[in-house]
Amino acid sequence: MEIAARPKPISISGHCKVCGQVKNHLNLSLHQNTGVIIQRYSKTYSGEMCRDCAKELFYKVQLHNLLFGWWGTISFFVTAANLCMNTVSYIGYSLKFKKTFA
Ligand SMILES: [Zn+2]
Repeated sequence: MEIAARPKPISISGHCKVCGQVKNHLNLSLHQNTGVIIQRYSKTYSGEMCRDCAKELFYKVQLHNLLFGWWGTISFFVTAANLCMNTVSYIGYSLKFKKTFA
């Protein structure tokens, strides 16, 4: 007796929010901070993303935080928190992706 392979789960919409292609994807949120001494600007990237787009966005946001996030008193601490949270989020995303689609 042969057991049928378990179908790979995919969301109803089936499209990656970033590239728009139909691929396996999961939700990911990444936080970006830009410090400009007396002000700061924050941006959140959130949505269903395929693995390639998530990886590319993770490196882009982390690089931005490392280069432009630190400039300001509050920004210094916000950027440190963002770098940690983004890393934890991305590791969680990668582990869940492997577990779900491997
Ligand atoms: Zn994508």
